[in-house]
Amino acid sequence: MPVYQFQCTDKNCGLQEPVIVGLGDATAICSRCGDLMLRLGKDPFTPYYETPKNFEEA
Ligand SMILES: [Zn+2]
Repeated sequence: MPVYQFQCTDKNCGLQEPVIVGLGDATAICSRCGDLMLRLGKDPFTPYYETPKNFEEA
């Protein structure tokens, strides 16, 4: 099984870690916060939930 570097999509977590995944898997679950993780590096899938440009910290 291949190992890919993943990054947590939770902006308060942001954990990056290598994850062993199947060939077609583009996502994983964060081991720290349980949120969705995205595969880094060359990837045909573009994140569709990047931080909105108008996002404002409360
Ligand atoms: Zn996380």
